[in-house]
Amino acid sequence: MAEPPCGSANRCRLTEGVPGYNVGPISSEAPSVPSITLALSKGRIFEETLPLLAAAGIVPADNPETSRKLIIDTNRPDVRLVIVRATDTPTYVQYGAADLGIAGKDVLLEHGGAGLYQPLDLAIAKCRLCVATRKGFDYAAASRPGGRVRVATKYINSAKTHFAAKGVHVDLIKLYGSMELAPLVGLADAIVDLVSSGSTLRANNLEEVEEIMPISSRLIVNQASLKLKRELLQPLLEAFAGAVK
Ligand code: ATP
Ligand code: MG
Repeated sequence: MAEPPCGSANRCRLTEGVPGYNVGPISSEAPSVPSITLALSKGRIFEETLPLLAAAGIVPADNPETSRKLIIDTNRPDVRLVIVRATDTPTYVQYGAADLGIAGKDVLLEHGGAGLYQPLDLAIAKCRLCVATRKGFDYAAASRPGGRVRVATKYINSAKTHFAAKGVHVDLIKLYGSMELAPLVGLADAIVDLVSSGSTLRANNLEEVEEIMPISSRLIVNQASLKLKRELLQPLLEAFAGAVK
C-alpha cells in the first residue's frame, strides 16, 4: 500500500480536518508563534487596556476598530493580541489558546472561571450590574420574599443567584442584547443589565431599582501558562499591577 503523502497515517489523522491546523506537508521547522498571546475584546476594554499595555512596554501594531485583523502583532516580537467577543475571552484563556486575557466580572461570573487564575482587578470598564424596570412598576411588591418576577437578561447565573438570595421566584428569559426593550413590550417585568451613566435606561423610560454588584474588568491567566511561562508572564503581571489606578 502506498504511503500517505504526509508520512505516517497517524500523523495524517492528527492534523486532517482540524480547523486552524496546517494540513500541508509537515515541516521540520516549528512555526514561529509569539510566546505570549493576550485575548482582548474591541471597544471599551481594548481602549482602557492600552495604557496598561503601555506601562508594560507593549504597543499594538494595529487598531482593531479600524483593522479587520483578529490577530494583532505588537512592538514586542514575543507578544501578540487576539481580538475576541467579550463573552468569549474566558473561553480562549481557559483552553490555553490565549495565555491571558481581560474580561469583565459580569462575563467571568457567567463563565464560572474554570481553569482561570484571576490575579488582578484592573479597575477598568467600570459599571454596575442592576435590576431595572419600567418607570412606575411596583418592584418592591413584586420582589418581596415569596414573590415572582419575570426577568429578561443575558446574565442568567448572576440573576439566578441574586433572586435566590432574596427568596424571590424568578422566571428567567435569556436575551443576547437590547435588554431595555423587554419590559417595554411586555416580555418581562424587569431586566438585569449593566449600567454606567443610566442614560440608556432613561432614554427608554426605565429606572434602576436595585444594584446587584459593582463591575470592573479583571486580568485572567491560564493556569498552565502561569506555571510554564512564569518568567515571561510575571513581569507583565507586575507592570499591569503597577499601572492600576
Ligand atoms: P455588544 O455591546 O457589542 O453586544 P458586549 O456587550 O459583549 O458587546 P461591550 O459592550 O464592549 O461588549 O462590553 C464589554 C465589557 O465591558 C462588559 O463585559 C462589561 O464588563 C463592560 N461594560 C459593558 N457595558 C459597560 C458600560 N456601560 N460601562 C462600562 N463598562 C461596561
Ligand atoms: Mg455591550
